[in-house]
Amino acid sequence: MMECMYCQPESLRRSSLMTKVCDLPGSVVYLFRDQRYAGRVVVASRKHFKEIFEMSEEQRCQFFNDVAHVAQVLTELFHAEKINYSIWGDEANHTHVHLVPKTQQQPEWGKPFLHDPEHPIHVDEHTFQLRVDELREGIEFLSKKIK
Ligand SMILES: [Zn+2]
Repeated sequence: MMECMYCQPESLRRSSLMTKVCDLPGSVVYLFRDQRYAGRVVVASRKHFKEIFEMSEEQRCQFFNDVAHVAQVLTELFHAEKINYSIWGDEANHTHVHLVPKTQQQPEWGKPFLHDPEHPIHVDEHTFQLRVDELREGIEFLSKKIK
């Protein structure tokens, strides 16, 4: 069996796909390398759960609260008109949610986002790092406000 890339402290597969933004009480936030959808992130649960029904009610509440907070920050930062959420994990079976900011200008408005687009958009390292920092600051700011 392949090792879980979300459980490993360092994973080449994970770092080829995404970069860590920050820790939240029940999860870890990663910015997706492919920025076809500016601000696309993954929120992965802190512990390994294959299915959300394996979490206790408290863990599930915590996890989805984190998802909601990240969605709020994404909406403000990337002027999203809608956040799309996707949970499947047939292969990476560690509960994680893809959060994808959508706008009406995107060709996939009104349709599911492209999970593995044929032409991914890799922004330059400076822009990418800027997005990581803005996200981290936005999430920290919101976390303080709601405490
Ligand atoms: Zn795992």
